[in-house]
This record gives sequence, C-alpha cells and structure tokens, in this order.
Amino acid sequence: MAANVRESAMTDRRVGLRKCVEELTALFGDRVATGEAVCRQHANALTGLPVEPPDAVAWPVSTVEVQRIVEAATRHRVPLIAFGGGTSLEGHVNAPNGGISIDFSRMNRVLAVRPEDLDCTVEAGITLDDLRRELKPTGLFFPVDPGSGTATLGGMAATRASGTNTVRYGSMRDNVLNLKVVLASGACIQTAGRARKSASGYDLTRLLIGSEGTLALTTELTLKLYGVPASMVAAVSTFSSVDQAAEAAIAAIQAGLSVARMELLDALQIRAVNQRSGLTLTEAPTLFTELHGSEGACREDLLSFRSIAADCQATSFVSATDDEGRRALWRARHDAFWAVKLLWPGKAVLVTDVAVPLSHLASAIRETEADIASSGLLAPILGHVGDGNFHCIIVFDPSDRALSRTIEGFLDRLVARALRCDGTATGEHGVGQGKKRFMVGEHGGAIDVMRGLKSALDPLGILNPGKIF
Ligand SMILES: Cc1cc2nc3c(=O)[nH]c(=O)nc-3n(C[C@H](O)[C@H](O)[C@H](O)COP(=O)(O)OP(=O)(O)OC[C@H]3O[C@@H](n4cnc5c(N)ncnc54)[C@H](O)[C@@H]3O)c2cc1C
Repeated sequence: MAANVRESAMTDRRVGLRKCVEELTALFGDRVATGEAVCRQHANALTGLPVEPPDAVAWPVSTVEVQRIVEAATRHRVPLIAFGGGTSLEGHVNAPNGGISIDFSRMNRVLAVRPEDLDCTVEAGITLDDLRRELKPTGLFFPVDPGSGTATLGGMAATRASGTNTVRYGSMRDNVLNLKVVLASGACIQTAGRARKSASGYDLTRLLIGSEGTLALTTELTLKLYGVPASMVAAVSTFSSVDQAAEAAIAAIQAGLSVARMELLDALQIRAVNQRSGLTLTEAPTLFTELHGSEGACREDLLSFRSIAADCQATSFVSATDDEGRRALWRARHDAFWAVKLLWPGKAVLVTDVAVPLSHLASAIRETEADIASSGLLAPILGHVGDGNFHCIIVFDPSDRALSRTIEGFLDRLVARALRCDGTATGEHGVGQGKKRFMVGEHGGAIDVMRGLKSALDPLGILNPGKIF
C-alpha cells in the first residue's frame, strides 16, 4: 500500500515536471535544457556532499520571465533552485527533490550607477568580477569580497556573503539597500527604497538576505558603493603560533586601527599559497593586514600595528604600499582554496567556517588546531579573523569511510565549540545542506519562527527545498 502511494507520487512528480518543462520550452525555446551534462553543471561541485542535479535548467533574461517560471512551477508543484555562480560551499544548489535550476547568468547588467548617492542597481546574475570592472572608471567600489570573483550578486545576497573587507565595510547584510524579488506567489515586489536608513515597516531586505533562495528569487539589487580610499597599506607579519597571530589581530581591532582586512593563514596554508603563487613567504602562522584611510592615518596606524605585532612576539613584519605588491599578496590569499587543491592533487577538499565573538577567537583557534592534530586530519586553517571568522580546509579521500566519520566528528566539535562561546555554525558560507543539522542547536525555538516564515512565503515549498531546515 505504502509502496503504491509512493509510486503514484513519483509518477505525479514526473508528469508535473514534464508538463512544466514543456510549457517553459514553449516560452523560452533553447533557453531551457534537460541534458545530463548541463544539469550536472548546475549541482553542487565544490564540497564533499553528493552531487544532486536538477532535471532541467532555465535561463531567464528578465523579471517577467522569472515570474513565468514561478507560475509554471507552482501549477505543477515543481521545485525551483536559483543558481548564480555555483560557488557556494554547503550544497546550496543541489536538487535533492529534482526540479528546475534557474540560471541567472543572462540577467547580468548594471542598470544604474548613481555616484551622487553612492549606490548602483544591478541584475542578480552579474558576477562580482564584472561589477568591479564596470565600476572601475567611476572611482567607486563595492566592498563585499568573498573569495570567488565568479560569485553573483544575487547568490552573494542569498548567502549573506562576506569576505576580506568585512571588518571595515560589513557584509551583504550591510551593503544592500533594496531587492527586487519574485515571490513564490509569482508577485514581484521591491523590499525598500534607496534611502540610507528607514524605519518603515518590517525589514524585508534583511529577511531575504541569507535566505538561500528558499523565500524568494532576487532579480535586481541596489547596492551601496564607496569611494576608493586615498591610501591603502598592506602588512605581512609572521608569528610562532596561530594563537599569537590571533591575539595580534584582536588587539589591532580593539585598538580601533583603520583595519580593512585582517586575514590569518597557518603554516600549512602558507606552504600551499607559496607553491600555487610562486611566492617565498615564511612557512609560519601569518597575518595579512590592510589599512585604509588618509595617508597620515594609514602611516600612524601602521606604526601602531607594528608595535602590537611586536608585543605579540611577531617574528617578522613587512609592509607594502605599492599597488602591485598589495595586489599580488591578496591574489595569493584569494587563491588559498585552489592552492590547497593543487598541493594535494587527487584529494577532495571540504571547506567549513564558524565565527565567534572576538574575545574567544584565539582559544577557539587554539582548540581547533589541537583537535585537527589529535584527529589526524590534514586541514589548513585560515580566516577573516578581524570578524572572528575562521575556516578549516579539510583535505580527504572520499573513498575512506573511516576518515569521513572522523571528519563528521570534527565538524560537530568545531560547531559545538563555536556555539559554546555564543558564536555561530557559519559566519559566511551559509547552511545549505551541510550545516542543516546544527540549526536547532544554534537557534532553539527561533527555528520554528523561521519555519513559519518559510510556509507563509512559500506554502507549497517549491523554493529550494531541502535547504536550511
Ligand atoms: C574559493 C572560494 C572562496 C570562497 N570564499 C568565500 C568568502 O570569503 N566569503 C563568503 O561569504 N563566501 C565564500 N565562498 C562561498 C561563495 O562564493 C559564496 O557563498 C557566494 O556568495 C555564492 O554566490 P553564487 O553566485 O556562486 O551563488 P550560488 O552558489 O549559485 O547559490 C548560492 C545560494 O544562493 C541562491 N541564489 C543564487 N542566486 C539567487 C537569486 N538570484 N535569488 C535567490 N537565491 C539565489 C541559490 O539557490 C543557493 O541557495 C567561497 C567560495 C569559493 C569557491
């Protein structure tokens, strides 16, 4: 009996999907595809999680077309998975229940840049690299800087992304003024205007930022922009222990220095970066720091930071003011993930992140280092330590079952440690599938409020099912 019910549900699902794809093909032509290879390209590829491709992919070119997709999917109860750059790290774009991936890459225009208001409006599928290129002649920049330039602004908003600049400029939460979104009902709304502040009603912008495509589909974003600072100074300091490096980072932030970036890389990560980028950095725990401000302020803050680093027993301290030197350094930092892949070719890599209040950062990293050593794992540590956020890049062989269990145990302890000191299971990568199991532990009863919001906004559960909850 139960098997019959299951089978009939499967048949209904297949029929619904077929009809939905037929309707969309009639509207979109070859901008709908069902080939196995293209569907696979639209599933998670960057984590240790299984690859779960959608059944079809659609490429809309306008908000109205996104509405047409939602209407068809609602009629036939077909899951919809928004797809930006596919760079998310917790299985966000997987399709565990099948469905249609909405690839936003053809909605990639800058619609307006308003230097006088320091803002711009873009379509959701524009990549960060393309936005940077378009903004360059204006002397303005968008500061949120996750490690991947192929991430899209829609995907970055959906994951509440942050990155190396967050310590000074904030995350996507702080830098999006307004979203244009299509709801599961098919309606299109704007979440706010362009005013820098507003006390008008519920803050729908902030509700949707970080909702991972489970509450609405973003088609346009209005973003805050900033003038390129008059002066930028980078410093590289090495320490004998990760702990000392973290202490120096904390002291610099607490002293109120004009820190724009504060990145920690452990010795193993430096080895990988050296090999990938042809650098000769000392293989020791290292802080990459960048200060932004006027020339005088940067010079003064650099001196203060040098003395903080010395107090924390820095073993070396080198600064760079020239643009090329700074850029090479940050390119190397951004390539850290790929550097690890290169150093251990043929191995899989799982990147995880947690964040803690700054005062707990040094002890959290120290305990994590000890845990990595006693678990026998290979896992370089790096992090945006100015925000109390750090990552472990776990290198593993997916066919080693015992190792997979060791990694699960390590992840459980990592998150438990972060939560014990009032931190979070993920500072920036998001929940997706990989961190679902930690949500009740972190949010307690608040998870029921989140579930209530989900069913109010998406009563049929068609938007990115199987994520967050
Ligand atoms: C090398 C590397 C380094 C990274 N470093 C960082 C880092 O420093 N900081 C950081 O925050 N992240 C980092 N990430 C993770 C990743 O880059 C971010 O999560 C990024 O924000 C995802 O953007 P995307 O366009 O690739 O989204 P996707 O992976 O395509 O999608 C992510 C989620 O957003 C949803 N989504 C996508 N577009 C839309 C839309 N238009 N409307 C509604 N929902 C949508 C998807 O359904 C999915 O749930 C890194 C990843 C890599 C590979």
